[in-house]
Amino acid sequence: RAKAAGRNGYRFFEAEMSVEAKTRMALEHALRRALERGEFELHYQPRLDLKTMAIVGMEALIRWNHPQLGRVSPLQFIPIAEERGLIEAIGQWVLEEACTQTRRLMDKFGRSLRLSVNLSARQLRSADLPQQVAACLNKTGLPAHLLELELTESALIEDMEISTAVLKELKTLGISLSVDDFGTGYSALAYLRRFPLDTLKLDRSFVNQENGEIDSLKFIKAFVDLAHALNLSVVAEGVETKETLQCLREASCDEAQGYLFARPLPFNALEEFLSRLPAHEPNH
Ligand code: C2E
Ligand code: MG
Ligand code: MG
Ligand code: MG
Repeated sequence: RAKAAGRNGYRFFEAEMSVEAKTRMALEHALRRALERGEFELHYQPRLDLKTMAIVGMEALIRWNHPQLGRVSPLQFIPIAEERGLIEAIGQWVLEEACTQTRRLMDKFGRSLRLSVNLSARQLRSADLPQQVAACLNKTGLPAHLLELELTESALIEDMEISTAVLKELKTLGISLSVDDFGTGYSALAYLRRFPLDTLKLDRSFVNQENGEIDSLKFIKAFVDLAHALNLSVVAEGVETKETLQCLREASCDEAQGYLFARPLPFNALEEFLSRLPAHEPNH
């Protein structure tokens, strides 16, 4: 280990380690209490249909507001929650809160809204996930076909047998399943065919190709065609420019979300956002 620190020697390395370890421990400690202290909140990023340009739903994204540490990114605390066995409880809270709030918005606006919820790898490993999801739908009254669970490729592939079984059970509830961040992992489309999936969410890095516009259009179009041939719909995430939007529409990509349309919004802001939508918007 000391050698791994290179020329700076092991003292430097040790100091680094302990700062990191201390931060992690502080986060872990705080994370254990975050639920009961009500420090979590959900933000929602609207998602739109690229044919009609209508808002069809939103993705729930967790936010942690710690009184001293401030806003901690889910990219930082979700892995810790996973490792420390806290993700089940947090995930359960997210699911219930998101379904409850979506149901409330549907009642208020008299329209359907599709809700996407992120699941972590470990949640997929828990045998009673399908039962939890069923109970949550029951309790909140959100129709099953309006709920989509987002999984990552690595979560699916980590233990194929377990994930296939759990996913099949989830599918019998009538919910949808999507692969999040598609294009960042192992990404063999053919490989994913063995899972009962409905949607691929194209990762931001895939959507915003840096190469020339035409190449990028061809690339995305070929991808969308292939996904459609496999009966999968395609959602583009992280759409930030009109050029990207144009490209996605030309490529027949089904849906999109991104800063171009809306950032993830706190519940009240989402409510206001929805209330400003034109009344003639088609109801899905
Ligand atoms: P994700 O599920 O891929 O979510 C998309 C992330 O991209 C979100 O970051 C969102 O705020 C951000 N984003 C959306 N549109 C744009 C855009 O146009 N440009 C750019 N640059 N970024 C955009 P966020 O909210 O920080 O979440 C990060 C990740 O944390 C999520 O990635 C997801 O993997 C995880 N996460 C968030 N909420 C939950 C949760 O409730 N449960 C679990 N297990 N994971 C969650
Ligand atoms: Mg997601
Ligand atoms: Mg994503
Ligand atoms: Mg992502």
